[in-house]
Amino acid sequence: MIIIDGSEGEGGGQIVRNACALSLVTGQPFRIVNARARREKPGLMRQHVTAIEAAAAIGNAGVEGAMVGSDAFTFTPGTVVPGTYHFAVGTAGSTGLVLQTVLMPLLLAGGPSHLILEGGTHNMMAPPFEFIANAFLPVIRRMGARVEMRLVRHGFYPRGGGRIEVDIYPAPLVPIDCLDRGALLRVSGAALFAGLPADIAARELATARKLLPDWPEDAFALRQLPEACGPGNILLLEAAFEHGAEVVAGFGRLGVSAESLARTAAQRMAGFLASDAFAGPYLADQLLLPFALAGSGTFTTVKPSQHSLTAADVIGRFLPVRPQFVQQADGTHRMMLN
Ligand code: ATP
Repeated sequence: MIIIDGSEGEGGGQIVRNACALSLVTGQPFRIVNARARREKPGLMRQHVTAIEAAAAIGNAGVEGAMVGSDAFTFTPGTVVPGTYHFAVGTAGSTGLVLQTVLMPLLLAGGPSHLILEGGTHNMMAPPFEFIANAFLPVIRRMGARVEMRLVRHGFYPRGGGRIEVDIYPAPLVPIDCLDRGALLRVSGAALFAGLPADIAARELATARKLLPDWPEDAFALRQLPEACGPGNILLLEAAFEHGAEVVAGFGRLGVSAESLARTAAQRMAGFLASDAFAGPYLADQLLLPFALAGSGTFTTVKPSQHSLTAADVIGRFLPVRPQFVQQADGTHRMMLN
């Protein structure tokens, strides 16, 4: 039994999701103690319990102690069975994070799967739909897998009610090298809003345009969603390169001005464009699992986040390879598997 101290490193929910995925793929049981010990409200929250339940459902796993608020649980994996699954994450928990938990086990399963995920599709502190579709999945496809994903309905915190559908066609993951992102092909800035004044989204775009002066005027667009999806707002800045993409999100929320949210997002995008890295900070932590499962391969990224370093540690507990980051002469960091 692998024992994981959930207070180590980043100390958040990603340890829980990565451990479930790795356990299903390798067949090794684990126990997490001190789950999410570094968070303001420690212990499992609804969305972590849903992710564990989803992992247990696809992998016939035995789970003990995984309740909202619990700080320890045990997960004993069974066989992953491909098929059609429907998971609803209550209180607008992120659908993307549930997908993060079950995608790799289903990609390595014996047949195709169809997932219906309901909850939040554009949540703070989680990959929004466009990030998964435009930055993450293209890399996974280059590794040989076929995954199609559709956004049926947007879901914002706190209302939720969003829906994504995912088709997964398994294939062995082939190692790839993602060192060079290639030339910049397209940029876009979209401010999505639902059930809120259009002025909020217009101010976000105006701020982003000022800070990204090289981006053409017609790259920016307002997008009004049906009132029923709201209230909700997100600014999405996307840069597509020959071999990869980055999607930076600014999540609208009470107490943060449109200008401040857009400034942070635009500065992050400008920072990424100024680097030569293939993967931004979030993409890097999310690529570690598929690259480690492929057994080799490499990518360049910006300075590794605490999330990435912690994910590397968790991977090293289950697999014979362990991701490492080595700084390069051009300032990027290269992920290599040891
Ligand atoms: P906790 O409340 O414990 O922090 P959590 O379950 O919400 O837990 P984290 O451990 O913080 O999750 O992990 C969040 C995951 O979401 C990471 O994989 C991170 O890369 C991803 N993520 C967060 N924000 C973004 C973003 N703006 N774009 C893309 N991915 C993101």
